[in-house]
Amino acid sequence: MNAPAAAAIRVLPERIKNQIAAGEVVERPASLVKELVENALDAGARAIRVDLEEGGVRLVRVVDDGCGMSREDLALAFVSHATSKLTELDDLGHIASLGFRGEALASIGSVARARILSRRRDDPTGAVVEDEGGRIREVVDAGAPIGTTVEVRDLFFNTPARRAFLRRTATELARALDVLQRLALAHPGVGFVVTHDRARVLDVEAEMDLAARVRRLFGAELADSLVEVEAHDGTSSLRGLVAPPRFARADTSRQAWSLNGRPLKDRVLIRCLQEAYRGFQVERGYPTAFLGLSLDPSAVDVNVHPTKSEVRFRDERRVFSFLLGALRAAVARTDMATPGARMLGAAERRPGALPPAPPSGRALPFERRPDPAAGAFTVREVPGAAFEPLPAALPAAVAGPFLQVARTYLVRALADGFEIVDQHALHERVTYEALKRQLGEGGIEVQRELVHELVDVTREELALLEGQLAALAAIGVELAVFGPTTIAVHGLPALLRRRDAPRIVGELARLLERGAAPRSAPELLDEVIHSMACRASVMAGDELDEGEIRALLERAAALEHDQTCPHGRPTRVRFTLADLERAFHRR
Ligand code: ADP
Ligand code: MG
Repeated sequence: MNAPAAAAIRVLPERIKNQIAAGEVVERPASLVKELVENALDAGARAIRVDLEEGGVRLVRVVDDGCGMSREDLALAFVSHATSKLTELDDLGHIASLGFRGEALASIGSVARARILSRRRDDPTGAVVEDEGGRIREVVDAGAPIGTTVEVRDLFFNTPARRAFLRRTATELARALDVLQRLALAHPGVGFVVTHDRARVLDVEAEMDLAARVRRLFGAELADSLVEVEAHDGTSSLRGLVAPPRFARADTSRQAWSLNGRPLKDRVLIRCLQEAYRGFQVERGYPTAFLGLSLDPSAVDVNVHPTKSEVRFRDERRVFSFLLGALRAAVARTDMATPGARMLGAAERRPGALPPAPPSGRALPFERRPDPAAGAFTVREVPGAAFEPLPAALPAAVAGPFLQVARTYLVRALADGFEIVDQHALHERVTYEALKRQLGEGGIEVQRELVHELVDVTREELALLEGQLAALAAIGVELAVFGPTTIAVHGLPALLRRRDAPRIVGELARLLERGAAPRSAPELLDEVIHSMACRASVMAGDELDEGEIRALLERAAALEHDQTCPHGRPTRVRFTLADLERAFHRR
């Protein structure tokens, strides 16, 4: 029997090819929005209007005042690999425009009813072309304003299988708006108006700078807290705004990066920001920042992914360290104090109740640590210290009367309000910084005990620890294998206030276990120091005498950052006079 004729190899018709290519570029209305607005930006538009209906499934219309297209351009606009932006393969090495593949309009036309109306500044009239599911019509003359209007209706009308993957209107709209927000943030100087089912849902004027756009899109509280970043390295530059750690979120929705005007969600950049906030925020949160990176186009390959949201840096390490240095310095300048206002708000909503434990992965307003012995709100005064001003010659940050509450919190008057310090969190930060400093200065001071403490572990824990004995010794944790399930502790960092050997060993084993996934040595080291600082710092419930409190506050005042513990929980919550007035309904 012969093979059936259908098995013969044939070149696919253009229409089918485009539909297949569309699978890469056009996934949902948000992809249309992205491609069409990028085209408008490439065309030099100063004002862009986007109209959406039914989340963009029924209609996406993008109107721009850019350079427009000639009749000849229009005849080619829906033809695949037709582009005005790339003429030679060589150009691929230094792409400056947002588009270049000449694929978007052809793909879009193959899976929807699309229409382009356009007119160049000097042309007496405009022209229009249509593409209905891959059937391209003749170009005909039509009256048109200067610029281009692209209308895409009934996405996936001819590919029901793809249509079935679309989500609810609200979801599609949210995704389209996310794309539009990022584009608007990446292009100050360009005005954006967006409507959905005729209602205005986004509006930024061309004159609004980045800060003004953030204010319009995300509100004044965030906008007022931002710190500017500006840095240069040869031809590379970074500009933008970073928020204090407490604005971190569970996802990257408030993190906008752009590279040469192209919004992107690149994992290297996301990681870089994560690194810049390390130690200032709760581990899993994504910081809020709006950043524009500009690099020589030859320093980066944008042709990695059809939607171009990921890129490849030619010298990733250099870019990374440039960015990290600039970002970390900016983050350090943000106001990391935790405003009491938010907590007063929570208390107002639920009178008499503690604020609910926040969902995991979000910035914690503070840790709930009720003291079973003392009762959460019992006031314990430090004998002789309460309301008694401390001796003179203390740094301003330390001076002033204070109370120790529930052996956990220190309450201290400020010039314009008061603050509450979590003594454990603060001590953690102090110990952590000191350990890091010692490590940087050549070694952590070790305290060795005359009698080795023996700690029972499981075989698995023993194996994990045994593999890291040298690395641990380098950070002041001197362990030796004593038996098949026993570890001998020869020395621990002298800085640790409580050298609770079993706890520390257990914690280290746990960390190493989690570290099974490959992590860099410095990262692991940092975590170990975190956890040691935590396990061995003053605990909630520790009675501190006046001298100890003063020493703790003095050491913290000398630090560059003392507003969060190494895990990013706040060390102090500040209540200003304004917060109090609001709480007591005086304003
Ligand atoms: P690419 O952007 O990769 O070149 P597209 O398919 O998105 O490919 O667009 C094809 C071409 O159509 C572009 O190269 C450009 O010449 C023209 N074009 C598309 N949209 C516009 C617009 N809004 N204004 C002017 N020209 C446009
Ligand atoms: Mg394009």
